[in-house]
Amino acid sequence: MHRTPMSITRRSSVQVSVGAIRVGGGAPIVVQSMTNTDTADVEGTAAQVQALARAGSELVRITVNTSEAAAAIAPIRERLERAGVGVPLIGDFHFNGHKLLREHPDCAAALAKYRINPGNVGRGSKRDPQFAEMIEAACRYDKPVRIGVNWGSLDSDLLTRLMDENSARTDPLTAQEVTRNAVALSALGSARRAEELGLAHDRIILSAKVSGVQDLIAIYRELAGRCDYPLHLGLTEAGMGSKGIVASTAGMAVLLQEGIGDTIRVSLTPAPGGDRSQEVIVAQEILQTMGLRAFAPLVVACPGCGRTTSTLFQQLAQRIQSHIRARMPHWRREYAGVEDMTVAVMGCVVNGPGESKHANIGISLPGTGERPVAPVYEDGEKTVTLKGERIAEEFQEIVEQYVARRYARLGDA
Ligand code: SF4
Repeated sequence: MHRTPMSITRRSSVQVSVGAIRVGGGAPIVVQSMTNTDTADVEGTAAQVQALARAGSELVRITVNTSEAAAAIAPIRERLERAGVGVPLIGDFHFNGHKLLREHPDCAAALAKYRINPGNVGRGSKRDPQFAEMIEAACRYDKPVRIGVNWGSLDSDLLTRLMDENSARTDPLTAQEVTRNAVALSALGSARRAEELGLAHDRIILSAKVSGVQDLIAIYRELAGRCDYPLHLGLTEAGMGSKGIVASTAGMAVLLQEGIGDTIRVSLTPAPGGDRSQEVIVAQEILQTMGLRAFAPLVVACPGCGRTTSTLFQQLAQRIQSHIRARMPHWRREYAGVEDMTVAVMGCVVNGPGESKHANIGISLPGTGERPVAPVYEDGEKTVTLKGERIAEEFQEIVEQYVARRYARLGDA
């Protein structure tokens, strides 16, 4: 291990430009996501990219698996440009990427980055020339590449060789340790090969995705200690719902805290009919709750307990959260720094006033046996006490007025 735990020191010193987005080299940690539409469906895929970008995804990856998918990339790009959506598109290639990039120059040109999985570029003697053809396409079209190793599709020749070498050792490593090494070596060896083929050092991002949290942490620490390429973090096959969110957060938070990771994706399996944009919101919330970036005002809400008289405060917390998300696209255009705001919605006077005073703006609702009034605090001072049926509407209006008063209008010199 080459890392010093609990110090935020690394972040890659090398910066890679992906379209207009900067990754590494001191740039803010970038949030990315991936579509799950059939890429050949131009309209459906463009609509999902737009939704992901609107939710805050700064890069969007798209599967490019067939000739029809490759042919759809340029029309998707055009459709996005017409809609005013400039988010860079990343092509996800496996097995036939060399052929698709060769046969679809419009696709090669329209993508802002190619993702290459060295375990899936081809079998046996085809692997090296097919990998080389993809790197040559990246050089020709001046595109960066993510060398994205995946535990589930690890280069089997490399793994077999390392296992054989390990079994000959007097103190053999465990199979898990050998596999972790193989993942890191596959990424580093492929990056070295890409540079030998002419790809610039600052055109390479690495990732090594696995589905186990401890494996993820161990492999990324190893990568961070052995190279200065920007690293894309993500737990693969994280799962659905809270399991996926917890697993991704547990793994990535440890690494981010140690300064490892320049761009992240939270790979959540959406529920049938679920919103793909949830993975973007979770990624933003990981970065914001860790204090690494600010995307939208934070709503601090107490969990509620036996002192809470009703679900009023839960409804208010949810309503304020939804209101802020809905208003944020407008606020972001209008007010400088509004994403740093915190709003406290508390259920009673035990912690309510204190927490409200620490927030930019806070409300403390009445708990059991308390007078049916809700004091509001702005910048630590009690400004008004709400009561009656319209507490939610009135508080929402106070938040609007606070934003307009507190944050400078963009464009006002
Ligand atoms: S602030 Fe009041 S209602 Fe909320 S958890 Fe604490 S004691 Fe319970």
